[in-house]
Amino acid sequence: MQKKIIVAIDGHSSCGKSTMAKWLARQVGYIYVDTGAMYRTVTLHALQNGYITPEGIDEEGLRKSLSEVQVSFRLDPNTNLPLACLNGTVVEQEIRGMEVSNHVSPIAALPFVREILTAQQQQMGRDKGIVMDGRDIGTAVFPDAELKVFVTASAKVRAQRRFDELTAKGETGINFDDILRNVEERDYIDSHREVNPLRQAPDALVLDNSDLTKDEQNAWLLARFDERTNQQ
Ligand code: C5P
Repeated sequence: MQKKIIVAIDGHSSCGKSTMAKWLARQVGYIYVDTGAMYRTVTLHALQNGYITPEGIDEEGLRKSLSEVQVSFRLDPNTNLPLACLNGTVVEQEIRGMEVSNHVSPIAALPFVREILTAQQQQMGRDKGIVMDGRDIGTAVFPDAELKVFVTASAKVRAQRRFDELTAKGETGINFDDILRNVEERDYIDSHREVNPLRQAPDALVLDNSDLTKDEQNAWLLARFDERTNQQ
């Protein structure tokens, strides 16, 4: 039997990490964890409870409230894909909208938020057999992951993909320039925060998928997975 490994997929916002991570997990029968969804769920909680105001973030209030907050996933019985839950309620749709996207990076930069979610992610991967995507999986969550991939594409290509995704979901009032600004702002905050910034791990394989089709990137990823699992 093949030994189970940890696959860490990091990279910039909206570069298709989740799509390829989900695909690989399904293909090889691994668990898939979208850590961005966890940061988005905490952000939704902060928005719903007034911890984010025009004056800034009420860090103390948010920190105290987190002991009562449960971030989890439930499998969609139709697609078998994980749905993010906030205190047991599915919040997939709410966390993907522009309001959460506009506030998630400052929330994800708070050290106490990262500490709680990192510990939860490490627990999820303790038995390996997991594909996890995010910004700091190969550097901070699983620095010993057997396969690390760092995905990127130009900001314009990524904004267009996000625009197409939101349009397909029927979200109204969206504007390409707003999305491009959001993608660039998140890249900046994610790469410049003090705790576990977005960085390419020295041993990560880089994939620029600006000019790749989904099938091409999936084939590339599966080939890297096969190499790593056959080495074991
Ligand atoms: O992956 P996604 O774009 O949904 O992530 C949303 C945000 O969550 C990112 O812009 C980043 O600020 C934060 N994030 C993070 N660390 C991770 C995953 C996501 O800081 N491991």
